[in-house]
Amino acid sequence: MIYLGYTIYVLLRNAAFIQKQKILYLFSGFGFVITGIVIQILFRQLQIQLFTEAVMLSLMTIVFENASLEVDNDLNIYKRKVFLEFYKTACDMKSKMTLIAVSLVNTEQLLSTLSSEEKTVAFRTVCEKISKMVGQNNVYAYTTEKYAIMLDRNKIENYNIAENDYLIALEAMFNQSWTIGNKKIYLNALVTVLHLPEDTENVTLDSAFHRGRDLNFIDSNMILRNNKDVDIIRKRTRMLNAVRRACENRSFLVYYQPIWSVDSQSFVSAEALVRMDDDELGFIPPDEFISAAEEYGLISNLGEIVLEKVCEFYANHHPEQYGIEWIELNVSPYQLGDANIVQKFAGLLHKYNVPVSFINLELTETVDVFRNSIFNDTLKQLKDFGFTFSMDDYGTGYSNLANLMSNNYKTVKIDKSLLWKATDKAGMDFLMITVNQLKSIKLQVLQEGVETKEQLDIITSFGGNLIQGYYFSKPLSDIEFIAYCKRFVG
Ligand code: C2E
Ligand code: CA
Ligand code: CA
Repeated sequence: MIYLGYTIYVLLRNAAFIQKQKILYLFSGFGFVITGIVIQILFRQLQIQLFTEAVMLSLMTIVFENASLEVDNDLNIYKRKVFLEFYKTACDMKSKMTLIAVSLVNTEQLLSTLSSEEKTVAFRTVCEKISKMVGQNNVYAYTTEKYAIMLDRNKIENYNIAENDYLIALEAMFNQSWTIGNKKIYLNALVTVLHLPEDTENVTLDSAFHRGRDLNFIDSNMILRNNKDVDIIRKRTRMLNAVRRACENRSFLVYYQPIWSVDSQSFVSAEALVRMDDDELGFIPPDEFISAAEEYGLISNLGEIVLEKVCEFYANHHPEQYGIEWIELNVSPYQLGDANIVQKFAGLLHKYNVPVSFINLELTETVDVFRNSIFNDTLKQLKDFGFTFSMDDYGTGYSNLANLMSNNYKTVKIDKSLLWKATDKAGMDFLMITVNQLKSIKLQVLQEGVETKEQLDIITSFGGNLIQGYYFSKPLSDIEFIAYCKRFVG
């Protein structure tokens, strides 16, 4: 009786998760046990009650497993593991299902006013509303901020209309504010609709849930991607796979773009620029794959491979004999989230016997970076180890003078757009003031994107110290770069 009572209690508590067809099993199980108990009472010598109970319990375990183990405690929807299994089965069986992938976007910024308990409440509230809309059985957690809705198209009447209704309701839901405690917040969501099996070919779940960078939430708090956008997702998946392959095979290439010193009238440095030559996708410029690497957490790996290649380059060619005093190495702000970066970088320098003064780290500051205290901690550790820094892309984004005064930077790289806009008086004045400002706080000024003699003359007349650009050379392979240096040294 205790077993029976407990079973009923657990089932009631998880009633929302019980699928209809399973209720039949439930009642047959109870009927079976109660029959057993009745027989036992009537014919004491039969000893049948325990037998029926054991059979019923085994049946229940098989049919229901333990629902509470499958449900995420914070979100009160099915766990990721359950979703992944279900999704895989649906793909394998080529079931006609629809995945509606809901990814909350910019949650870090939007939720910065909430405490961590309030955040949990916010996410749970979103899940609750979605569950109410489509049925709790159909909602799964992909991560804390990403949820999957799985709909069986065979089981829903007038499926297309129903799907539309769901999407309209979702959008209405996100366009309202959420009251969390005594605070009001808005949440942005990216919603991707994939129809199984046709849309899922060559599309990973990661990319279905992937939150793009430049989403525009001006008209609505929800952006919908449907099968028209699947090609974009597919492209992104191919890119991600290419980056994964390149990380595994360490097959990134590093090119070097010479940097000219106005003061010493010689090449003193070069910027290391990563390239990917993929078997499937061909030669891909970094602008296309760096952001993919950042968003899928592969950037630390990529960054280490690039540094290792630069160290190998140093060990094999000793560019310092041609006057190359240091190499500019791009470091993504996301890499600074890796607590072990200092150790890893130090290890590589040690392994190839490269002096720390040979590497100057280029950073681009963005708004999310300033919020992050890890960024500043890591920066300090790198500095203490002996690394120096350049601020990259100055004049775009969020880089500002106050940060430059913090003494962390040796060089500032003025973004090419500032130089390219110096075609009239206003543009010239702006560039001149920028250079003067930077020099007045004792920073070295490096101008990138110098393509013509006129541009070179402008920036040198303003006092620029270092020059990088197609006027001197495009980025070159290591062999080409060494040949290039040799020609100049004579
Ligand atoms: P960036 O750091 O601003 O690098 C300079 C980019 O400008 C390079 O593009 C370079 O080829 C290009 N460039 C240089 N001189 C000229 C010029 O005179 N005219 C024009 N039109 N372009 C010029 P690239 O190699 O395609 O790199 C793009 C971006 O990818 C880089 O911008 C950098 O942000 C990122 N990146 C490259 N390598 C790495 C890396 O190893 N790690 C990380 N995290 N990012 C990297
Ligand atoms: Ca750079
Ligand atoms: Ca730059």
